[in-house]
Amino acid sequence: MRPKPSFTQKSVYLLGILTLVQVLLIGCGSEKTPTIPTSTSIIVVNGSPQTQLTPTERASQITVSPTPDDEEQPAELIPENIQYQIFVILDYYNHQVFVEEKVLLPHPTQVPLREILMVVPPNDWLNVFTIQSINWQEDIPVEGYSLDGVRLTIPLEQPWLPGEVKELSIKYKLALPNLKPRPGYGPSPFGYTERQTNLVDWYPMVPPYQDDRGWIVHDPWIFGEYLVYPAANFQISLELINGPDLVVAASSIAVKDENRQLYTLEQGRNFVFSISPDYQVLEQEVNGATAYGYVFTPYLIPGKAAFNTTVEALTLFSKYFGPYNQPSLSMVQADFDHGMEYEGLYFQSRGFFDLYNGSEQSYLISIAAHETAHQWWYGQVANDQALEPWLDESFCTFSELLYYENFYPDSASWWWATRVNYYQPYGVINRSIYDFGEFTDQYLEYRNATYLQGAKFLDKLRSSLGEDRFRLFIKEYAIDYSNQISTGEDFFSTLSTYLDLDSLTWLPEYFKE
Ligand SMILES: [Zn+2]
Repeated sequence: MRPKPSFTQKSVYLLGILTLVQVLLIGCGSEKTPTIPTSTSIIVVNGSPQTQLTPTERASQITVSPTPDDEEQPAELIPENIQYQIFVILDYYNHQVFVEEKVLLPHPTQVPLREILMVVPPNDWLNVFTIQSINWQEDIPVEGYSLDGVRLTIPLEQPWLPGEVKELSIKYKLALPNLKPRPGYGPSPFGYTERQTNLVDWYPMVPPYQDDRGWIVHDPWIFGEYLVYPAANFQISLELINGPDLVVAASSIAVKDENRQLYTLEQGRNFVFSISPDYQVLEQEVNGATAYGYVFTPYLIPGKAAFNTTVEALTLFSKYFGPYNQPSLSMVQADFDHGMEYEGLYFQSRGFFDLYNGSEQSYLISIAAHETAHQWWYGQVANDQALEPWLDESFCTFSELLYYENFYPDSASWWWATRVNYYQPYGVINRSIYDFGEFTDQYLEYRNATYLQGAKFLDKLRSSLGEDRFRLFIKEYAIDYSNQISTGEDFFSTLSTYLDLDSLTWLPEYFKE
């Protein structure tokens, strides 16, 4: 069954994207030999590195969807996705970032719009984000915009009509924050430490638009994630100054062009960088994609263990949930005690490296599997992380169990006891990140419900459906909502084609109406 998209998806003409990619590449010398990011050392874990696809080759794989009446289409081709072209200069040791961002924004719905709302996550930090200019195309100043917290409102003098594409150019500067937890907030990877600089949620981004709710922008919260990412295409040029011998981890693979590194990424939720002079780089091919590990030198033993788990999980989940669609996945050792997923890259908490005991019965291993699963549940199938966080977190926690059952079945009972049952999770799982205000330890209750109770729900569902039908269901759900933003309603809509939901008499234990 082909479900109705939850968020408006327009008909597709990717020729425009192709042209853009080609223009950038022609301008940047794409014939040069592709290289991986500059690195001080590369450890090939298993076999020799395969030739990497250049963005040109990737671009040539883009499918162009023919329309039934091609001849009748207007000459101007409308991109399906939001497209970002971002030119970045990072002054590494002064922690300054200079950015020129161009956004091509297809009209997102069927009715005329009077304003564009963008999200500016770095403006959630004090004195970090400074706008220098916002123009339509290159040079027509945008009048009357306002930046309030993370919301950038751009009024439109004329109604913006369906079928029209807007082009915005934004110049801005980031004075990166020292990366340490802000009072009252959970940790974020954004900013710099002595040996690591992370650009995550660092640029003004376009949120999804939904007919009955408008632009979907939520408020930052003390824990959990609040951003909702439509799939977008990225072309990014990164130039590093004042920082020799830096190693760059990113959401895709670099093509070096003199002093710049060029990246492309298609159907990505976001694009992130993690940069350090101290990374050791691990690398292995996995079904045509490249897995990288970026690890600080003293941590090579736990680093290889987390990297191997990433490779194994990537292989397993490709079979279980469907193919991995991005060119690379990077596991980056965080220089802080927090893990976080992004498109094509995740941070693994430093604390888990410190605690690693050489056994698979370790959070380093289970969380590596968890973060890898986010490439499907967050990356490929996105969700509203603020309002329905269970849709990615319960799947990723349950994916940890799948990992143990497949690679270390004798440790599955350890996983249940340590990861889940020890915390005695209870209660309904379909709650937003803002719904835990009644508890003294809000984060703990959120984690127990969303992650742990969520994993129990999926395990119970597997028992009800049987292993084979459960696998068919999960794969169908992943493929049907690929590159979209799924909702709980979508999840149950697909599930209802596999069983009568009323037969799940235990369901109210896990879900509220
Ligand atoms: Zn997670």
